[in-house]
Amino acid sequence: MDQPALIDAAWTHLGFVLVSDSMVPPRNPLGRQHHTRFCAGLVMMVYNIPASLFRAFPDRPLIVRAGVAAELRAALGAEVPDGVVFLQLTALTGDMAPLADWGDGLAVDLVMTDPAIDLSFLYGCTPLLARHPVRVTIPWLPGLARAVKLAVSLGFPVRLVGPQPGPAAVEEARQALDLFLHNPTVAQPVEPFHGVLGGFLHETPVDLWHLLERDPAQTCVLDTRGEVLPDQGPASVTAFRESLLAAGTECCACPWFASCGGYFKWPRTDVACDGVKQLFADLASAAVELRQALSAYAAQRDGSGDGV
Ligand code: SF4
Repeated sequence: MDQPALIDAAWTHLGFVLVSDSMVPPRNPLGRQHHTRFCAGLVMMVYNIPASLFRAFPDRPLIVRAGVAAELRAALGAEVPDGVVFLQLTALTGDMAPLADWGDGLAVDLVMTDPAIDLSFLYGCTPLLARHPVRVTIPWLPGLARAVKLAVSLGFPVRLVGPQPGPAAVEEARQALDLFLHNPTVAQPVEPFHGVLGGFLHETPVDLWHLLERDPAQTCVLDTRGEVLPDQGPASVTAFRESLLAAGTECCACPWFASCGGYFKWPRTDVACDGVKQLFADLASAAVELRQALSAYAAQRDGSGDGV
C-alpha cells in the first residue's frame, strides 16, 4: 500500500487523528446516539433475551431479539424503554417497516444465518439506516466475502462471529480483510479486523471475546424460558484460556494469543488455526505499514511547517 492509501486507511477505518507524532482515536465508529454500543465491545453484563421475555427483565441492560421487526416493536411499546442496549433481528426476510419509523437512534443488529442466502435480503434492510445505527452480524461461513462487501457498500458496519471457520470461510475472510484494508471506499468497521488492527497499531491487544461480544461474563444469552442458551461459548473465558494452555494446544506457542485468547479453539480444541493465524499476521503487517506511513507523514508535515 502506498503512503497516501495508508493515510486514507487510517482515517477511514480507525478515525485516527495525527497529533504531533501521536495518534488518538477521536470518535465512535458509528458516531451515533447513546444507545450505540457496537464495535467497542460491551462494557457491562448485558442480557440477550427474546422479545417475549422483555417485561420479565426490568432494570437490566438488554439486547432484545426477535425474528421479525413487528415483534420487537410490539414488545417494547410506543417509546424506547431505558436499558435497551440494542435490538437484534435474527432474520432478514421480514418487513422492516415497524422499525423504520420508530426508535430513533436505537441500534439494530441484523444477524445472518447463512451469508450466501441472506445476502440479497440486505437491500430490504437499508430503510433502517435512516433512523438507526445498524450492524450486520455475519457467521464465519462460505459466502461471507460477498456478504461483507455488500454490507459495507450499503453502509452497514459488520461483525464476523459464529462457528469456527473452515478453510473456505477463512479464505473468504482474507478476501474481506483485503477489502477492508485496501479499498478506500470502505468506510465502515468490520470486526474483528477493525479492533484487532487498532490493537496492533497501539500495541494494546484487544480481547477478541469481548470485542465480538462472546464473553459470557459480559453477554448472557437466554432462551425463551429465561435459561442460559447452551453452546454460546465457554462458561468462563478465563478458565477456557487456562485450559488451552494447560493442555498444550497450539495456543501455547501462538503469537496472537494475547488478542485471540483461544477464541478460535471453541468449541473444538483440535481444529488447526493455520488460516486464522494468517489473518492475524496480515493485520499485524498492515499495522506496521500503517504506523510507518503515519510516522513518515507526521515527519513530512512537521518538516514542512504545516500544522494540523
Ligand atoms: S489463533 Fe488459534 S492457536 Fe492462536 S491463540 Fe487463537 S485459537 Fe489459539
